[in-house]
Amino acid sequence: MTKGLTIVITGNGKGKTTSALGMLMRTLGHDKKACVIQFMKSPDSGYGEITMMNRLGVENYQAGAGCTWTVSKEDTIETVHSAWELAQHKVLSDGYDMIILDEVNIALSLPEKFEDTVITSDEVIELIKQMRKQFPQRHLVLTGRYALPEIIEAADLVSEINEIKHPYKKGVTAQACIEF
Ligand code: ATP
Ligand code: MG
Repeated sequence: MTKGLTIVITGNGKGKTTSALGMLMRTLGHDKKACVIQFMKSPDSGYGEITMMNRLGVENYQAGAGCTWTVSKEDTIETVHSAWELAQHKVLSDGYDMIILDEVNIALSLPEKFEDTVITSDEVIELIKQMRKQFPQRHLVLTGRYALPEIIEAADLVSEINEIKHPYKKGVTAQACIEF
């Protein structure tokens, strides 16, 4: 038996987004169609994976204005809103085998920072329900730290990546091939 899975990749260790991109590669290798929506990245930020998705013709959108700690609250809320509108549309549109909502867990946890709800977990859970009903073979991947318990509950597969060691603690900054 196969079935579409809702997959959550969370935790404070490195490897959440790249795990989702690994599943994207597999999807493409089976000549299937995917769409990637990145909630927190801006399109011009030099990510190798964005360049490669464009070369491979993978539909991808970056709705983020940048890091939540350098961009204004209003800009972040606006970009998260536009990403969420797009995500809802894509998740319920014909033709996709996999949809990746990268860093959507961060968008869901924004109230902690902003005391403002941008996306609610109820909306995400409702979208998962609708997708399961309309597209039972479709995979949905939700990445980002701080996955909410109710999202974990709603998912079929949840992995938590825990940091054991990271070179940023020794002053090594983000570098090509590893972080972007
Ligand atoms: P990747 O995109 O490499 O799979 P990720 O999606 O698991 O990583 P995020 O939480 O999205 O990780 O963080 C983005 C990047 O920030 C990661 O590539 C990671 O190496 C780096 N990072 C993680 N924790 C810290 C930190 N405390 N300070 C600086 N950089 C960090
Ligand atoms: Mg990430």
